[in-house]
Amino acid sequence: MKFSKRRILSGSLIVFFLYPAYVQSHVLASVAINLSDYIEIQPNLYVDDLFTGEEQEQAIVTHTEARQRVARTYGELASNPVVIISSNSSRAERYGVKQPVPGTIHVLPWGQYIPLNDEGNNVDVLAHELAHAETAHRVGYIEWILGLPAWFIEGVAMQVDYRERYNASGKNLPSMSTLTTGSEFHSGNITLNYTAAKYELASWLKVNGNQGLYVFLDKTRSGESFCSTYQEYASGN
Ligand SMILES: [Zn+2]
Repeated sequence: MKFSKRRILSGSLIVFFLYPAYVQSHVLASVAINLSDYIEIQPNLYVDDLFTGEEQEQAIVTHTEARQRVARTYGELASNPVVIISSNSSRAERYGVKQPVPGTIHVLPWGQYIPLNDEGNNVDVLAHELAHAETAHRVGYIEWILGLPAWFIEGVAMQVDYRERYNASGKNLPSMSTLTTGSEFHSGNITLNYTAAKYELASWLKVNGNQGLYVFLDKTRSGESFCSTYQEYASGN
């Protein structure tokens, strides 16, 4: 398989320093969540004031299960992103979650912020975003923005996202070489793009000799080429 070597900007990523703050008001709102009326129900887990006591407890369970799912798949998490759950989509929009998307991630040089709407308040979506946060934390801010193709970022997250619509059986999947940038990935048949990335990463991770995601990300962070290391792993070296 051939991968483009051009540096890429992944679509949903926030290049915080390149835009005036007012353009990124949803990022600022996320960063300042501790100054809002959202409630921190456990460290780095915020819900809005419409959550009942029972719903708060459920959110804690969801958060724990999502972290456990990522840890079972890739190993213990080193990141601890701020998770912001809103009880409806209009509240979540303030933090950058725009329908029909149930959740997103803002990656900043000092940490990650994961706003979710009510449809994203489940283990699949939260585990997906937590996998992004862990990837960003381990590979580093600059490599996250410039060094990783969109299909890789999403393929990693799809290993812990079990939503049924992303199953491949009988589908004609696009090639990774057409899904490098964020804008390529988020155009056309987006469900098929996610499905393709999911199956690419699943088969890559299964190759004998693949040392796992975290070792791979450490190598990428320390300057080894993404493309050649990925292909090395794919061929079992
Ligand atoms: Zn994603």
